Amino acid sequence: MVRALCGVVALDGPSGTGKTTAARRLATESNAGYLDTGAMYRVATLAVLRAGVDPTDADAVVEAVRRARMEVATDPAAPTARLDGEDVSAAIRTEEVNRAVSPVSAVAEVRELLVAEQRRVIREVLDSRGGIVVDGRDIGTVVTPDAPLKVFLTASADVRARRRTAQDAAEGREVSFEDVKASVERRDRLDSTRATSPLRAADDAVLLDTSELTVDEVTAKLSELADGRGLLGGEVAGMCR
Ligand code: C5P
Repeated sequence: MVRALCGVVALDGPSGTGKTTAARRLATESNAGYLDTGAMYRVATLAVLRAGVDPTDADAVVEAVRRARMEVATDPAAPTARLDGEDVSAAIRTEEVNRAVSPVSAVAEVRELLVAEQRRVIREVLDSRGGIVVDGRDIGTVVTPDAPLKVFLTASADVRARRRTAQDAAEGREVSFEDVKASVERRDRLDSTRATSPLRAADDAVLLDTSELTVDEVTAKLSELADGRGLLGGEVAGMCR
């Protein structure tokens, strides 16, 4: 029996905390939509790089992002990312994009454009499916501050870098643990210290340290929290009170 998720679950935290994997599992198990906002910033960054624009030139970055046609699918089984019609799901995970994504996402106007699009997609999915799991850095603080469940995931830097290295290797990207750790720490530093919507936990977020937890355990914990808030209401898929 599917117990459908009703409403928004906002998952924030730095990279390598297991957000994305657990968010997709939770969405799949509860017949909900899934929105990877990090993928949206990555698609915007790829558009900037393909336009030959310097990621630190804010005006040119905004122009390139405005021109790009970006789509991120909300099916947790296939959250495909597209740029101008092309499937860029793999192209947005390269080290080149990793390096440029924090400066691009620090531009206030880029955030305005993407947050507006994220809110539109969330509304659309709530209308059609009743529930959505959204993962990012500012979901609980900016995008949906009224979400009925906000969870801020953390994990030690070593654990996060180990997970990212394993993920990269599994997807065929050969990288060293030390390089991944440096890249992850750099990105987190930039994301946490930017002026607009820095990475931080909302005051009413539940903090969850995933360092010692498996993906199954993180997913179970999220499901338990959602249930505790009365969000796993519909006993039939799609039925929300
Ligand atoms: O989640 P992921 O690691 O793919 O995110 C890539 C980058 O996108 C982050 O390092 C951050 O710079 C940016 N981001 C953001 N706000 C979000 C989601 C991601 O600034 N809500």
